[in-house]
Amino acid sequence: MRVEIISCLKDNYSYLIVDDNNNSACVIDPSESKPIIDFLENKNIKLNYILNTHHHYDHIGGNKDLKKKYKSVVVGFKEDSDRIPEIDILIDNNQIWKAENFEAKIIHVPGHTSGHICFHFFKEKLIFTGDTLFSLGCGRIFEGSYEQMFQSLNKIKVLPKETKIYCGHEYTFNNAKFCKKYDSENKNLQKKIEKIEKQLENGIPTIPSTLKEELECNIFLKAKDIESFTKLRDLKDNF
Ligand code: ZN
Ligand code: FE
Repeated sequence: MRVEIISCLKDNYSYLIVDDNNNSACVIDPSESKPIIDFLENKNIKLNYILNTHHHYDHIGGNKDLKKKYKSVVVGFKEDSDRIPEIDILIDNNQIWKAENFEAKIIHVPGHTSGHICFHFFKEKLIFTGDTLFSLGCGRIFEGSYEQMFQSLNKIKVLPKETKIYCGHEYTFNNAKFCKKYDSENKNLQKKIEKIEKQLENGIPTIPSTLKEELECNIFLKAKDIESFTKLRDLKDNF
């Protein structure tokens, strides 16, 4: 399996998980169809599955066109079946979704939206976190409580440290500025910032991150309790 990063809209990332043995792929969160079709064209890869982390337009915008073109199967959280366009397969928390050689555990992570899920490809140690965990940040709380978001991040924190984190947006630089302001002595953070600055200078994504790096550098994952997490989230909303 290999992961291809597709830039969409202003700062979204969609991801293709390609199985070269079958010439087939899944897409995670197609913001729009065109960049994904452009990538698949001429490569003879068939887009068999569309996986959505949540219902926001910048994560589902390509569902309809892609399903029409490739007859892909759309997979999403069962409680969001009325909000995810063209949904075919309804999945539940802790379920293993398996199709062809693709296999992921579903982790329900309410907070950003009530029906947000992560896809954990546990064999490959990859997780697609949508707008819940960003590199050096976390998503805004739109539909849930601070408590829910805090617990949702805790579910991700316990995964193996080498797990690669693929999130929904390139927000890393701005997130880094916030972490630096409130965690200025953190040597690991300083190293991480040097790395992302180089990546951005060269026009390459700062994604994937790893859980190890995020545990060391992401101030939201370092928050010890719900009170400090709440304070940080409020500060970030006004940053
Ligand atoms: Zn969102
Ligand atoms: Fe988003």
